[in-house]
Amino acid sequence: MQQRASILVVDDDPTLRLLTRAALEQVGFDVIEADNGEAAIDVATTAFPDMIMLDVEMPVLDGFTACAAIRQHKEFVDTPIVMLTGRDDDETIQQAYDCGATDFISKPINWSLLGQRVRYIVRASRVSRGLRESEGKNRALVRAIPDSMLVVDAEGQLLTHHRGASGSQMIDDRMQEGVCIYDVLPQSLSDLWRQQIKQVLTTKGVELSEHRAMKNRNSRYYESRVVPYTQDSVLIMLRDVTEQKQAAAKVRKLAFYDTLTGLPNRQSFLIQLAEAIREAEDTDGLVGVVYVDLDNFKLINDSLGHSIGDSLLKDIADRLAASVRRDDFIAGSGKSRGLQLARLGGDEFTVLLPGLETIEQADAVSDRLVSVLKQPVECNGHRFVVTPSVGIAVYPEDGHDLETLMKNADTALHHAKASGRDQVTRFSGTMSIRSLERLDIEDALRTALQNDDLELHFQPKLKLSDQSLTSVEALVRWTHPERGPISPAKFIPIAEDTGMIIELGDWVLHRACQQLREWQSTALHDVRIAINLSPKQFHIKDLASQIIRAIKMQNIQAGLLDLELTEGALMSDLDSTAESLRQIKDTGLSIAVDDFGTGYSSLSYLTKFPIDALKIDRSFVFEIDKSEDSHSICKAIVALAHGLGMEVVAEGVENNEQLQLLRMMNCDEIQGYHFAKPMPASSVFEFIKKYRSRQVRRLPHANP
Ligand code: C2E
Ligand code: CA
Ligand code: CA
Repeated sequence: MQQRASILVVDDDPTLRLLTRAALEQVGFDVIEADNGEAAIDVATTAFPDMIMLDVEMPVLDGFTACAAIRQHKEFVDTPIVMLTGRDDDETIQQAYDCGATDFISKPINWSLLGQRVRYIVRASRVSRGLRESEGKNRALVRAIPDSMLVVDAEGQLLTHHRGASGSQMIDDRMQEGVCIYDVLPQSLSDLWRQQIKQVLTTKGVELSEHRAMKNRNSRYYESRVVPYTQDSVLIMLRDVTEQKQAAAKVRKLAFYDTLTGLPNRQSFLIQLAEAIREAEDTDGLVGVVYVDLDNFKLINDSLGHSIGDSLLKDIADRLAASVRRDDFIAGSGKSRGLQLARLGGDEFTVLLPGLETIEQADAVSDRLVSVLKQPVECNGHRFVVTPSVGIAVYPEDGHDLETLMKNADTALHHAKASGRDQVTRFSGTMSIRSLERLDIEDALRTALQNDDLELHFQPKLKLSDQSLTSVEALVRWTHPERGPISPAKFIPIAEDTGMIIELGDWVLHRACQQLREWQSTALHDVRIAINLSPKQFHIKDLASQIIRAIKMQNIQAGLLDLELTEGALMSDLDSTAESLRQIKDTGLSIAVDDFGTGYSSLSYLTKFPIDALKIDRSFVFEIDKSEDSHSICKAIVALAHGLGMEVVAEGVENNEQLQLLRMMNCDEIQGYHFAKPMPASSVFEFIKKYRSRQVRRLPHANP
């Protein structure tokens, strides 16, 4: 409920005060009195009335002077002060307003109207105070808003404005009230706002837009919002969004660009490719996807360190970018095609060729990329020649969708790598998944060989006559970086197909010799190592001299090295085989025929060759206790070998029954999980030492 208003009545005439009080109290006011100007000031500044009625002519201090004095106080700036005057000439009225009076009432007073009149004045004063207060609040609010604001009428005239901290650069000093904003704004913004203001005034909707302004060579970005204000004016809010824009750009940069090279990343490449495919669908065009992968990058990275690897990648990225820019006009077409370069990760880059007219254009671009990359790179004092392998897939022939195209370009790339690297390969439908897996293994195996990522395991053989352990077979082991351990039964044939077996065999030979050397000064100095030789390896011309070199390099006894060869290797060229075997034998090595029984099993040739032992294939041993046939084959092999003066080794012995049968057949040596599995060098070392020490303890009781 509103508080009762109090009215200060100032008059030297007590009758008038009495009548006034009666009239005002009747309509609900409290009344206080004073009888001269000075008293009025005192009472006003202690009681703070809501309204003051001042007689003009009074003793001590007249009404005008008192009015002016009261107005001086800040509490009374907007308190209504009404002069009671007997004269209503212009001069008196003017004087009343000059000294700060709100209104005047002329005497004689119309008592019946006085109450209503005062009520109206008090209410109006309250309303206007309320308005002033809320206006003050609004002003504070506006001041606190960082945006700049303009109130503009339909003709573009600036009615009022607030220059906030943000957006102030757009509003310069010419932006003064009364000016037509179109005269001071840049043309483009002026046109836009003119149209938006018109729109907002008719639809009463909101118009949003973004602008860029140059300030001291820096771009700043603004967002403007035109909203209806009154019937025929609009409010334009202007906000500086430069920081938001910069933050958004940064996020975009992180999400879509590679931080090392600054190139678009896989994500943005995929977006661009999808876009290019969509366009090509409409225009019946071609889209090329070119995968570029650096050969042997991992080797550089691992051997020279990541920082050199990184600067190499940056250099490569720069070259590719320069080449792609030059190629932007695909020869002949004359139209800009917007080639897009991206880094997919690691040393893999892609180039998108949208809007191709012929497939040959893709080949041409790829060839140019390759020649650019093959220029020597200078990097922290190192000089490299980096060769790339490149795979190409073209929409729509090699795939109608993004995934297929990417996959097929990748397949083509792997083919390029597997076919010896440093070449461009276009995808073809015959590149199946199976061959891809094979290619992948090939490629990784090549890298493993270069990085020395292979390992030898050793599987002991047991001599049955005296239970002695004097030799082990070296078996190569490899763990593929993604596929995990891969059996030599799988990767040796691949290595044979690609010719890598020569390098691999050489590695095995050296590693085995190195192992013999390490054991030389230990208790295992008499343990022999057998290595497997693939047929291809056997047929290289200077195998014997290679073996001699490896043996000499480690300064070991040739008699400690055995070779295992398959029948197939021996049978292909009988004359040269005999010669090779002779040479090898002459160096002091012994030779065993591996997997005996599975190949030609032509016994006649055995007499021609200087062979020391036969290894019965494990497929016979496996069934020796179950199958009559296997049993008799094993028996026959033993008899045959012994008849020719050779020893017999049974491989793949997995249980005691098999062992006992072989013992009964007079088999010389056995090898298999039952006795020992293939194991790393350190384990086999421990195994043999332990086995031998037990042997010694058991000797007095064994074989009396
Ligand atoms: P392999 O020369 O006949 O070697 C014997 C294989 O039988 C080895 O398989 C060995 O781990 C496995 N084995 C040994 N004892 C048992 C057993 O009791 N039961 C069964 N089921 N298997 C047993 P691995 O190591 O997978 O080698 C497979 C083949 O790969 C080898 O057959 C050999 O032909 C080839 N290979 C392995 N290392 C080399 C190498 O250094 N050079 C060449 N050229 N070929 C190699
Ligand atoms: Ca073998
Ligand atoms: Ca074998």
